[in-house]
Amino acid sequence: MILVLNKNLPEAEIAGVVSEIERLGFSAQVVLNQPNPLVFVSGDVKVVPSHLFSNIAGVEKVMKLGPACPRVDNSEGRPVVVGNIKIGYGAKPVVIAGPCSVENEEMLLQTAHAVKVAGAVMLRGGAFKPRTSPYDFRGLGKQALEYLAQARRQTGLPVVSEVMSVEQLEIALDYVDVLQIGARNMYNYELLSAVGKTQLPVLLKRGMSATINDLLQAAEYIMLAGNSQVILCERGIRTFETYTRNTLDLSAVAALKTLTNLPVIVDPSHGTGRKDLIRSMSRAAIAAGADGLIIEVHPQPMRAMSDAAQAITPVELEKIVMDTRKIYELFSEEATFSSAPALSLASTVS
Ligand code: PEP
Ligand code: MN
Repeated sequence: MILVLNKNLPEAEIAGVVSEIERLGFSAQVVLNQPNPLVFVSGDVKVVPSHLFSNIAGVEKVMKLGPACPRVDNSEGRPVVVGNIKIGYGAKPVVIAGPCSVENEEMLLQTAHAVKVAGAVMLRGGAFKPRTSPYDFRGLGKQALEYLAQARRQTGLPVVSEVMSVEQLEIALDYVDVLQIGARNMYNYELLSAVGKTQLPVLLKRGMSATINDLLQAAEYIMLAGNSQVILCERGIRTFETYTRNTLDLSAVAALKTLTNLPVIVDPSHGTGRKDLIRSMSRAAIAAGADGLIIEVHPQPMRAMSDAAQAITPVELEKIVMDTRKIYELFSEEATFSSAPALSLASTVS
């Protein structure tokens, strides 16, 4: 950390700054820069709130060195691995699909087989449902996890499901392949640390009013606890717009890809809340560089117990899977090299 001192601060006052830093347990090195003297502070300054430095008399500005979330910033350039599926860092985009909530055994198994046929590589399904109204369907809990495990046995698709508490996490560990932290719990630091202590990959959704930095800091909590298998998910943020359920922030996808190596996926279902917009936003997400999509699918969308307005059919999902492949090929590096047809057309014309 570097402290920029007030212009032309007298030496006696610079000495006062140094002794205050030493009192805090750090060592200080003065550089008599003109007009602002500088003090380099060494030691683990993160353990002390920065106002303890900025409030020292004679200090004009505190400049922190090093990243705010070092584990996220320096995350290794390798995909997150779920069974034989790779997500992010050069892997082809993945499509995760399934119902908003697991409603019963039959609908889950039917959906699981249908999304597999449509090209999804992982099954989603809510067992513990965070609902805005406590009177809405809140999921089947452990019973739903058992159905999910059964669907995995039948289809081979790994399953992702949300946990909202440490107690639910302990139950889910025996059933799921990926733990989902939902938008409402992105700020639940106890839960983030708890999933960070497991070995399972974590799908971390952006909170509905969270900044990109908030999301990265939440990922840092998980990584600091020891789990580097984190998948970030843009799922729309609250804005003044009411036509869509949320505003899907695809600029966050592009931004996150420049800020971290962690995979970034997009949830166009909660991002828009409207089935008629899911295909367009899925296309846009892949074009923006997303490493995958998570989409709510129901065999009979109108009958869905939760989020019916955003559920699409397996047939629609299949179209999105096809789009995803085409768009990825168009923008991947191989596709850049295979621009040969255009060149040969040009040479034929000449
Ligand atoms: C979900 O994926 O089922 C869900 C509740 O999403 P979010 O946390 O993004 O609202
Ligand atoms: Mn939902």
